[in-house]
Parts: sequence; structure tokens; C-alpha cells
Amino acid sequence: MDFTTRCIHGAANNTHTTGAVSVPIYQSATFAHPGIGQSSGYDYSRLQNPTREHLEKIIANLEEGVDAIAFSTGMAAITALMELFSIGDHIIASEDLYGGTVRLFDNINKKNGLLFDYLDTSDLSKLRGLIRKETKAIYIETPTNPMMQVTDIQAVAALAKEYNLLVIVDNTFLTPYFQRPLTLGADIVIHSGTKYLSGHNDTLAGFLVTGRTDLSEKLRYIYKTTGACLSPFDSWLLIRGIKTLAIRMERQEENAKKVAAFLNSHEKVKKVYFIGLETHPGYEISKKQASGFGSMISIEVDTEATAKQVLERVNLILFAESLGGTETLMTYPMVQTHADVPIEDRLARGINDRLLRMSVGLENTEDLIEDLKQALS
Ligand SMILES: *Cc1c(COP(=O)(O)O)cnc(C)c1O
Repeated sequence: MDFTTRCIHGAANNTHTTGAVSVPIYQSATFAHPGIGQSSGYDYSRLQNPTREHLEKIIANLEEGVDAIAFSTGMAAITALMELFSIGDHIIASEDLYGGTVRLFDNINKKNGLLFDYLDTSDLSKLRGLIRKETKAIYIETPTNPMMQVTDIQAVAALAKEYNLLVIVDNTFLTPYFQRPLTLGADIVIHSGTKYLSGHNDTLAGFLVTGRTDLSEKLRYIYKTTGACLSPFDSWLLIRGIKTLAIRMERQEENAKKVAAFLNSHEKVKKVYFIGLETHPGYEISKKQASGFGSMISIEVDTEATAKQVLERVNLILFAESLGGTETLMTYPMVQTHADVPIEDRLARGINDRLLRMSVGLENTEDLIEDLKQALS
């Protein structure tokens, strides 16, 4: 079955007998046992819930994994994931990660004895140089947030195999519609389901997906023990959002290409970071490993004053964190998403006070461009 169809029919709706086309919201904390030592397959909603399970099957199917686990947020998913590691374990991560992930690694996981090194993971020889005997995993985002660096997942996976390391990919920006890291050799895929998967800027969610049953068992154990599970109602919202994932991703990308072309030609815009531009250094790798470029664009404008003016003047475009939804959002990474990243690191990576990040939504592009024009004038 095609991906588009699997977004809608990717899991058998076998949890009820009424014929309801929409999967019911099983708003139940606990489930009665038919007898001693017997179970309907559902015992307690922290372990499994029929609505959430339906969602998890769809995500596992779309990412081509054996299991997907739905968390209350993306950060809850990453926090649970880090419980796979023990004191002294070393993890190599992309330098341009989501700010919340850096905060988790540096302020919580380090305190608990994990060790991290950050680098531009698109540079494989440098990556190899950082591997040591304590190294357990390589953690990548591709494209990265907000600088849109692209890492060759297959090449990283080949390197990781030599040293028996886990490859973890945060696939939030492209979603399985455009990129399926498990099929490229990754062991675990992460999602902030809050973004494109939910798609409407109304729900928080997170996922861990794996193609390995040994990892699925370990992660399920951590999940039921630590308990940051997605509620039945939010699971239902995700199921609903994913039904239109394919069509949303297509149109948002089409919109992003038009908006990027406009920005690229504007005199006050000095740089456009969009992986769909042929001049982007990651363009060829993106074409090889993904079937599309997504709809995230970062731009560097001429002055800090222009950046602030744009944020204050946009009307249709909302000055808000988050991404991937129907509404076009713009953020100021320097002071918002990446405020907790040390200033020297931020500047070294190009996250300066002239940088703006946009998530292009589903509005008409002429309206979006009009809004940008007046904000930049
Ligand atoms: C938003 C985001 C996260 C965190 O997810 P939440 O749902 O906000 O907790 C992690 N990684 C990336 C790439 C994100 O964009």
C-alpha cells in the first residue's frame, strides 16, 4: 500500500465492533481482567491503551519499524531514550541540535554521568576521530535546527556498525513521508509528534521508533516504568492529524519553495538556509536520502534591527515557537529555542541576532509573501 493510504489505514481498526470509522477514544485508566491470570491484552493505560496502540501501529508502519512508542512530548521521548545509557557512556551528537535536547544532555544527562561530544556530523572523518571505547551512540538531526545542516545517514550508519554504536535520528523535520532513517541503517528514530505529525499546532506528543526487537523491549520497559505516556485523547488527535500527513507535507514543501525563492531574491535577506535550494551544501545528500525537502527555512537578514522589525510586523505569520503545523510560524532562535545554548557556541554556528527561522504552513503563498514583503520593507 502507498504511504498516503497507510497514513489513513496503516493499522487495523480492530479495537471495537461498532463499525465506527474513527477509532474510539478509550478514556479508561484501567481494564478489567476476564479471570485470574487472564488479560484482554489491556491492563493499565500506562502500559497500553487501545487508542494509543492504534496510533503507535500507524507510526511503526510509516517509519518501517517493528515498534513505535508514543510519549507525552518529544522531550519525554528523548528523556526515556537516554535511560538506555549508563554512567560513563559517551554519545556523539550533531552540534546544531534542537535547543531542548542540548539542555537535556548538558544539564540533566551529564549530571547523571553521561558524556557528550558535539560536532558537525556531516563531517565523517571528524566523527570517526571522536569515537572512543566508551562511545555508545551517535545522535543526529538531519536537517538540523536551525542551521539546516544535512548528515548522510547511510554513511554514519556504516561507520557506527564498525564500532557497534547505536544510530539515533531525530526525524521531526522531514517525517517518514520524506525520510525513513530506519531503512537507511538507523536503530532508533525520534519524533516530536507536536510538529508535522500532529500538524495543527494543537497537541504535544513524542515518539521513539525502532526496527529492532531487543531495543523495543528495553524501551518498552523504560516506558512503563517512567510513565510519560501519551493520553488517549491526544493519541486520537495524532491519529487524526496523520490522516492528512502526506498531503500536508507536499503542500507545505511546495509553499516553502515559493517562499524561499522570494526570500532569496530580497535585498535585505543575506542568506537563505533551505535544503531545497540547489546551492545548499546538503542538497545532493538530501536528494539521495529523502524524497523531499520539508518546509523549514532559516534566513539571515541584514541587521538585527531588520530581524526585530520583521518579528514585530508580521501579521498573518505568527511569531511563535514550534513548527510543522498549518499556521506559518516564525521564531528568533537566538532568544527563543536556543537561548540555553552557550552564546559562543551559538555564534560559532551562525545563530546570531540576524537569524530568523520559519516553518511554512498551509496558507496561500501569495498571502505569505505579501506579509513578508511588508514586514521587510
Ligand atoms: C520540538 C522538537 C523536539 C522536542 O519536542 P517537544 O514535543 O516540544 O517536547 C525535539 N526535537 C526537535 C527537532 C524538535 O523540533
